[in-house]
Amino acid sequence: KVKPRQVKKEEPLLSGVKNVVAVASGKGGVGKSTVTSNLAVALALQGFKVGLLDADIFGPSMPKMFGTEDARPMLEKVDGKDRIIPVEKYGVKLLSIGYFVNPEDALVWRGAMATNALKQLIGDALWGDLDYLMIDMPPGTSDIHLTIVQTLALTGAVVVSTPQEVALADARKGISMFQGKQIDVPVLGLVENMAWFTPAELPDNKYYIFGEGGCKRLAESLNVPLLGQIPIVQSIREGGDEGLPSALQPDTITGMAFSQLAEAVV
Ligand code: ADP
Repeated sequence: KVKPRQVKKEEPLLSGVKNVVAVASGKGGVGKSTVTSNLAVALALQGFKVGLLDADIFGPSMPKMFGTEDARPMLEKVDGKDRIIPVEKYGVKLLSIGYFVNPEDALVWRGAMATNALKQLIGDALWGDLDYLMIDMPPGTSDIHLTIVQTLALTGAVVVSTPQEVALADARKGISMFQGKQIDVPVLGLVENMAWFTPAELPDNKYYIFGEGGCKRLAESLNVPLLGQIPIVQSIREGGDEGLPSALQPDTITGMAFSQLAEAVV
């Protein structure tokens, strides 16, 4: 369960934010951004005030996943300083480097430039009052992770993995990074994405394409909760590409999976 975090003195800009939750993965491509976007929408549908910071500076996905590629955040002068107003879609306040620069330009940035850009996104944003600020972290472990934990007081981290061995090995590293002395952020739990596939013509069958039970075993061995399992579903991929997260339809099987996940996180 997420406990209200202690607001640190050095971050008055986020004083209206009750919980900051990082969504991370060891390996890339396991569906971290897909899970983050759907989790944010599911939380918003459940009545929470939600923001989402896309910290994946080298591969920002949120503008596309929310169908906001053309959006440009407005600026507002507060005490003589330009502050960034997040873009709002589906009840979620969004900020991504993708709203400011061509993603191909950010790809060739040196680490320090990426870190500075992220610090600016965090420091200059006007998030207002939020119950949850979700952070879509870059894959793996990087400077960006250190910047996030040094700049924001994280309530906890959610780690996404597929049940495949190579993904699990990296998820284990990700979890130990959060639990390490340097970072020391509580791991709220593990989400198993792409857990199985059920063909439309065989609705009672589950095919464990990436292996069965991998995240459950990892969660047990590290003594962290398994928060949920999301199957491989074509409509989840399509929703991501079309900027219409599946969680927007909480009555469908996939929408329900994300709303249950949101309930497990709060
Ligand atoms: P990451 O953020 O870990 O790099 P993404 O969220 O970008 O991963 O997902 C990688 C690809 O897999 C995307 O094309 C996405 O649409 C797809 N995908 C993610 N999760 C699922 C799922 N549960 N079912 C179907 N496709 C998925």
